[in-house]
Amino acid sequence: MRSYAIGIDLGGTNLRIAAVGEDGKLLSKTGLKTQVWLGREHVIGELCRATEELRLRYAGSAELCGIGVGVAGLIDIESGYLVESPNLPGWIDYDVKGDIERRLGTPVILENDANVAALGEQWLGAGRNYESLCMYTLGTGVGGGLVLNGKIWRGWNGMAGEIGHCNVEPNGHPCKCGSWGCLEQYASATAVVRMAREALARGEETALRKFAEQGLSARVVFLSAMRGDTVAKRIFERVGRSLGLAIGNMVNAVNLPIYVIGGGVSGAWDAFSPALFDEVRKRSFIYAATTAKDGQGIDGRKRSTVIKPALLGGNGGLYGAARLPLMLSAAFKPT
Ligand SMILES: [Zn+2]
Repeated sequence: MRSYAIGIDLGGTNLRIAAVGEDGKLLSKTGLKTQVWLGREHVIGELCRATEELRLRYAGSAELCGIGVGVAGLIDIESGYLVESPNLPGWIDYDVKGDIERRLGTPVILENDANVAALGEQWLGAGRNYESLCMYTLGTGVGGGLVLNGKIWRGWNGMAGEIGHCNVEPNGHPCKCGSWGCLEQYASATAVVRMAREALARGEETALRKFAEQGLSARVVFLSAMRGDTVAKRIFERVGRSLGLAIGNMVNAVNLPIYVIGGGVSGAWDAFSPALFDEVRKRSFIYAATTAKDGQGIDGRKRSTVIKPALLGGNGGLYGAARLPLMLSAAFKPT
């Protein structure tokens, strides 16, 4: 019997669940709202009910090898406890893994959402031809994940991949992590809106002024940049330079073959990527020596460093979460 896994993206607003075959085929997908205000008991109950519905659909035709859950926040991988999550207030030191396992009787793996997104892109997305990649997820904040030789790199205590907090501005904007000038303060959706407000406060002439009272968003700034607004263009140039600086340092340190940029702000690729490529070329001689201006390889040289947008969008996390139990099950299969 063929086997499949269930991948779950447990977000603060949406709860998405997918059944994924061992070959990476999406079998089916369902979603519901995360009603955080009704408490974690209710949310986990709904999650299990929807998961059980999916499982019943394949009962008898395929074997469920496990459930992977991606969630934002600090996770104790070994115990499966969610230590804390910015999206799920009140879920402190909560045994998410144990709770779902008790209710459904199936093994569960809990993992950080940015890590599973990186694993999904490495398995089936922009990095599918590579064993290792580094992914930047540009959303409300900047998340990150490292996949090395097909596996998530967690670091010695599970906290690796916090590349949104590498420094791109020694005296820059304060960050909630306690440092200042972090990449997150220049390349997240929140940062784009803040930089627009700063420009407005300085009295700069920009089409963004009509959104000053309401409706100012990273998307509005992007659309204004594409229409030629100087201030909006400058903001995205800052996004690109900051990312280029961070990626250039990463290239020099770990020399991975591919760097993938996902999350909502990655949709503004056309506005920020020219500055990104220009900056990374200046900051990394390794990159400059092996890669052409558009991020692709130089003719005749096979080993080029690639920087490209993510391919799977919001589904990357679902695929990556499902990949975790599938990898475990493959490792234990008798040969
Ligand atoms: Zn920070």
